[in-house]
Amino acid sequence: MLFKELAQYFQRVEETTSRLEMADLLRELLQSAEAGEVDKVVYLTLGELMPSFRGVEFGVSEKLLMDALSKACGIKVKQVEELYKKRGDLGLVAQEIVRWQGRELQLLQVYAELSEIALSRGTLEKVMGLVNLLKGLSGFEAKYAVRIVLGKLRLGVGDATVIEALSMLSGDRSVKPLVERAYNLCSDLGLVARRIKEGGAKALEDFRVQVGYPIRMALAERVASAQEVVERLNRCAVEAKYDGLRLQVHREGEKVEIYSRNLERVTGMFPEIVRAVLQEVGAQSFILEGEAVALDEETGDFHPFQVLMQRKRKHNVEEYAREYPIKLFCFDLLFLQGEDYTLKPFIQRREKLQELIKEGNTLRLSQMLLTDSVEEVESFFQEVVSQGLEGIMAKRLDAPYTAGARNFNWIKLKCSYRGTLADTVDVVVVGYYYGRGARARLGIGGLLVALYDPHTDTFKTVSKVGSGFTEEEWIRLREMLQPHRLSCKHPRVDSLMEVDVWVEPKYVITVNADEITRSPLHTAGRSPQEPGYALRFPRAVSFVREDKNPEDATTVEELIRLYQLQKKVSTQWWRREDSNLRPETYEISALTS
Ligand code: AMP
Repeated sequence: MLFKELAQYFQRVEETTSRLEMADLLRELLQSAEAGEVDKVVYLTLGELMPSFRGVEFGVSEKLLMDALSKACGIKVKQVEELYKKRGDLGLVAQEIVRWQGRELQLLQVYAELSEIALSRGTLEKVMGLVNLLKGLSGFEAKYAVRIVLGKLRLGVGDATVIEALSMLSGDRSVKPLVERAYNLCSDLGLVARRIKEGGAKALEDFRVQVGYPIRMALAERVASAQEVVERLNRCAVEAKYDGLRLQVHREGEKVEIYSRNLERVTGMFPEIVRAVLQEVGAQSFILEGEAVALDEETGDFHPFQVLMQRKRKHNVEEYAREYPIKLFCFDLLFLQGEDYTLKPFIQRREKLQELIKEGNTLRLSQMLLTDSVEEVESFFQEVVSQGLEGIMAKRLDAPYTAGARNFNWIKLKCSYRGTLADTVDVVVVGYYYGRGARARLGIGGLLVALYDPHTDTFKTVSKVGSGFTEEEWIRLREMLQPHRLSCKHPRVDSLMEVDVWVEPKYVITVNADEITRSPLHTAGRSPQEPGYALRFPRAVSFVREDKNPEDATTVEELIRLYQLQKKVSTQWWRREDSNLRPETYEISALTS
């Protein structure tokens, strides 16, 4: 396949707003690619070179790219800058100033050159690589190559749309659950595409977990009481819910990799876990999961989540690790010595995990109780809350590990305060307002936020958020949003609201609110007959959640369930006055008016 053909498909995808049409175009594109090309087509369509868990980035700034354009086209950098100011998109600038026909490069050739640019270390090497690439492309091709290099392809295609296209490619859309399963087990849509090309739907049936490919993490549903936990699960495992960073640890011999909740490779952040895994665990090949928490050894208290995330920006991680040592509370085992454990019942996975983890200094087992008694669940809940933890996680004993899915196999029961929702909501920032008064001076005073809708692969607005951040945080947020400003609404954002500045849906923040209401202003859960859902009195409870991707935000369906839960809790509340929980402190409440 020629790179030109890929660029032509990109243009057609850009021109459509219909999800179905988009998926069908992608299907056609994937069909025309060879088996050896199809994974690259998938990555490039998603605006990447490789699945994001490989951590490969171009490392090319706009400035560097303008320098390369100027050198390739023989015009002054100043001129390129002026054109950029006018057009607002370096892809369009490239299309305008690259005047030659190009050499009709193969897709694989362009991919190889792009990889070389990403892998080269020095700026000079990168510029030379870019110049070389631009010389071989036409203006039309250069437009897309430049956008890919800058991470600004923005075709409006997310993973869910590619999954749709891959299901169509397998012939029959009933194959979709198999495509989703394969994706959930390896997080690499390029690999899934290649398997389909090589072996059709049959290859998907045989798809298995592999060390080195992160498994999309299983998620928990919420309930409002200990009683509901037992009603749903009967005899179950009840564990402490730690408020830290979820990690998936992969080991193959001497090689260890660690992935975060959004499947980013974070191995470098946790040298003590790497050491503990190599020294304290006997098995050579496994995948396990746990929650990393920074523990104050002297007081026994947990440090806040931010203390962990700071490691991301530290150069001297080892030193920082000595100051804030962490523990990994292990709670699941997904693969062991060639065997896929995701299919085994939870209780078997846990038993094996207990054999594997010899309580050392860094690796620990999550605190757990097996019970079918409501009273025991409640007293366990109170015990962990008094230790300063968030609440409990209850797990169905006979359930497999449902990769990438949220269901009642895992249930969370969190302690929150009266007058708020039963849980916080993770929302994606899609735009912002300049704000009034003191905020106007900061250049940002409020956010428009959205939920994820996996059915349409879009982001639907649910609220404005104007409180919860300090002045410094507002300033930092504005700076972080700066490179992601858009001249109009992003193609994957569905909004009736206007904003001062639209931004790419990229950053997730966690908010709390007093309640969920129905509102005609927002698109989350809106249908032609019914208004949408909105958050009342929302406030941010965390800064940007770097461990979550926009697709990891709360989904519209989840919010609707939370809305139903809210109604239920408000009626349950009055009946439970004799409960030995102290309602003013620990009730999982969501009072509606
Ligand atoms: P939430 O982020 O509120 O949806 O809660 C689910 C998260 O709780 C998981 O993604 C884990 O990061 C975290 N967690 C803490 N303790 C446990 C545990 N014992 N079992 C499973 N997940 C846990």
